[in-house]
Amino acid sequence: MLAVSQAETIILNLVQPLNGRRDTEVVTLLTAIDRILAVPVTSVLNFPHWDNSAMDGYAVRYEDVKHCSDQQPAILEIVEEIPAGREPQRIIQPGQAARILTGAVMPDGADTVVIQEQTRREEERVFILAAPEPQAFVRHQASFYRAGTPLLPPGIIINAPEIAVLAAAQCTQLTVYRRPRVAILSTGNELVTPDQPLQPGRIVDSNRYALAALVAQTGAEPVQMGIVPDEPEALKNAIAKALQTADVVLSSGGVSVGDYDYVDQILAQMGGEIHVRAVAVKPGKPLTVATFPASVGSNQKPVLYFGLPGNPVSALVSFWRFVQPAIRKLSGLSHSWGPLFVKARARHNLHSDGKRETYLWGQLHLVGDGYEFQLADGGHSSGNLINLSQTNGLAVLPVGQTLISAGEQLQILQVGLPIVKGPI
Ligand code: AMP
Ligand code: MG
Repeated sequence: MLAVSQAETIILNLVQPLNGRRDTEVVTLLTAIDRILAVPVTSVLNFPHWDNSAMDGYAVRYEDVKHCSDQQPAILEIVEEIPAGREPQRIIQPGQAARILTGAVMPDGADTVVIQEQTRREEERVFILAAPEPQAFVRHQASFYRAGTPLLPPGIIINAPEIAVLAAAQCTQLTVYRRPRVAILSTGNELVTPDQPLQPGRIVDSNRYALAALVAQTGAEPVQMGIVPDEPEALKNAIAKALQTADVVLSSGGVSVGDYDYVDQILAQMGGEIHVRAVAVKPGKPLTVATFPASVGSNQKPVLYFGLPGNPVSALVSFWRFVQPAIRKLSGLSHSWGPLFVKARARHNLHSDGKRETYLWGQLHLVGDGYEFQLADGGHSSGNLINLSQTNGLAVLPVGQTLISAGEQLQILQVGLPIVKGPI
């Protein structure tokens, strides 16, 4: 059985990130949020576009004002007013100044801005009451960005700051990676959909819904493939269909050692190469990871297959720990695919049998200037999904460690909701 870190390495090495032309699409600025930039962006514009004023004040020649003070002000003639957006008409000569407003273009001849607070105005004259630094409050052309150099690199997520940059650079259309398609199917004769009557003994298929939500949150497109009974032929047909449409296939259930657990066997029969069969993790020990070469699916892409355990908590934990980083890497992100661990203090004693790397679910809180982990109330059985609600952290107990005492620091895998400010 593989250790968690071994399984993680194997899985990430199997991922072939999107690239090339057929894996991209063009979006507009208004629909670009959360997409991943596929090509570098450069601009023909300098930032700032022109020398301009950072403040409201007066554009002056430094030579004219370098020795002044409130006792001996420099007195300059105001020859022009330059609000933002107006092109200066005059060249500032010795003894002259221009009234200038924030963002307005510096007039030729002037090299320094004196802020309004250090001046006194009398009609068409301005008294400069303090000597500024040379070139004070001038934002120089191209000092933020020089035209033609890289503006945004590929592989980054487009968020509000990037949208601001792209808008300012007048890039209204941009090339992003397409969203990876992730097919999701549930296996099990016992499963019913949430809107079907619940006959005795049946179980509601919650995994397909949870996994679709997780896939969408990861920036990929969930493709629903339904519930598949535990029958080899039905399973084969469903998997074949999924392979044709998706970059990644997620099934849940049927990867254990029970009489109806056919998934591994069928994957092998269909030409899949199985890389992972079980991982020393709790919850989630049965985990199958397989690849199908490009030639098998009609869409000519290699497909990564995850056979997740059926238990609802195991399915979610396996997704967070193994599937999410793989989808992130696949989606073209150039960095930060990996799971995010933060250090936190345990609020309670946390127990494990020490045999497998154990993940306990609960809430990460920000308390004072550090994080604390609050274990979810109730049973920590992989079949109990009720107390998963509001989970935003999974406490990690490494193999061999049976206890983390209250007050000790430990690693928490951050998942789902953002970290919240906690009760003291
Ligand atoms: P399996 O791995 O197929 O043996 O399933 C393990 C347990 O998880 C069984 O109790 C199943 O009924 C349950 N289970 C399997 N698939 C799902 C699902 N899609 N939604 C909720 N529970 C499931
Ligand atoms: Mg089953």
